[in-house]
Amino acid sequence: MRLSRYFLPVLKETPSEAQIVSHRLMLRAGMIKQASAGIYSWLPLGYKVLKRIEQIVHEEQIRAGHIPMLMPTLQSADLWRESGRYDDYGQEMLRIKDRHDRDMLYGPTNEELITDIFRSHVTSYKDLPLTLYHIQWKFRDEVRPRFGVMRGREFLMKDGYNFDIDKNAALHAYNRHLVSYLRSYERMGLQAIPMRADGGPIGGDYTHEFLVLAETGESEVFYDSEITDLKFGDRAVDYDDVAQCQAVLEEFTSRYARTDETHDEALFNEQVPEARRRSARGIEVGQIFYFGTKYSEAMGATVVTPDGSRVPVHMGSHGIGVSRLLGAIIEASHDDKGIIWPEGVTPFHCGIVNLKQGDAAADAACESLYKALTAKGLEPLYDDRTERAGAKFATMDLIGLPWRITVGPRGLEKGVVELTSRRTGESEEMSPEAAVDRLGQIYANV
Ligand code: ATP
Ligand code: MG
Repeated sequence: MRLSRYFLPVLKETPSEAQIVSHRLMLRAGMIKQASAGIYSWLPLGYKVLKRIEQIVHEEQIRAGHIPMLMPTLQSADLWRESGRYDDYGQEMLRIKDRHDRDMLYGPTNEELITDIFRSHVTSYKDLPLTLYHIQWKFRDEVRPRFGVMRGREFLMKDGYNFDIDKNAALHAYNRHLVSYLRSYERMGLQAIPMRADGGPIGGDYTHEFLVLAETGESEVFYDSEITDLKFGDRAVDYDDVAQCQAVLEEFTSRYARTDETHDEALFNEQVPEARRRSARGIEVGQIFYFGTKYSEAMGATVVTPDGSRVPVHMGSHGIGVSRLLGAIIEASHDDKGIIWPEGVTPFHCGIVNLKQGDAAADAACESLYKALTAKGLEPLYDDRTERAGAKFATMDLIGLPWRITVGPRGLEKGVVELTSRRTGESEEMSPEAAVDRLGQIYANV
């Protein structure tokens, strides 16, 4: 993409309504624009990152054997009356009437709709296990929408639902989700720690929230510092291997890590040596939850077992806050000049800065770099505007592309361009071909 033809409405002034750094940077970098409280338009740069995050989530869910689909945003109230949640859900649910005076709602989540789909089509244990998911907009009329996309009213969520014959099978689905979530967050350059969460009125031990540690997080968390040393890395996992998935769960959840809702001070002191006790703040970027037969019983989602009896299926629901993740990544990765995108989610793979637009040699070198990078499957953002170098650097730093190639007449006389890392600020001179190769290698490993 050539910046002269792109739509990147960066702001010079820091918007006064934004209280936290990710919100400020998303507005300044021209990624989002508020449409109304807690509802945003995704401008091209923000939309690109959103799509990258969605893509990672899809790839990892499909790898785990989960099946993508799409359910609507608007739902009929009738299903929610069946489960009993139409009245329970409270004011967060946006209730709508259609022209025939029928009660509708903008889905805050999808347990009812998916259970209805399941019961209409699945009748036998032979069709299990089954996990369906979608990535779809949700609406929750939050009392205090704030922090930009972190606590929106309209937000994008991946929500998946497993259907299994019994509790053990459903717990394997739970473990698969845990593994796939660890992989997904790491690919986004994030450490998200599974923490024991509150099962709410349903209760039970089987729910974990994934928390990214950040001062601006809305949750208070307590954990054993050893947990931050755990890395999932690129280990191979067989998602059908029950023992292997269980081992990952044990590795990542055996140390003390809880949100304030389940925190037990006495247990914390007993289990964790003082030097390793930490309390901090965190951003919830996902949650997994096994809830058994709550919806299947209420809505009659049963299957016939091998011995011919009928049982309600065991279910769980598992969510990732796709749009919230943009905020969480920026909270975890920025400096005073702007955003620093991890390679896995960056909107463009690198920037090309032409120090002297209009100089024949510099223009030609930039064009040929652009072509070579594109031929490697990389997407550069070429700043081809006739701006001062300082302004071009400031824009690149603000929007946070992890790599920048700087091209100028003086370097070209020596046959070199400069490759700069946004994270370390370090620059290295090399031939344009070497810069293209280097970026090719870097992104081959992402
Ligand atoms: P919270 O406690 O933050 O209100 P939740 O526990 O109600 O979230 P879930 O139902 O678990 O949310 O939804 C799954 C994920 O969707 C959450 O882990 C979070 O990342 C994201 N999410 C929830 N509410 C919002 C929101 N208002 N804006 C953006 N993302 C959200
Ligand atoms: Mg949650």
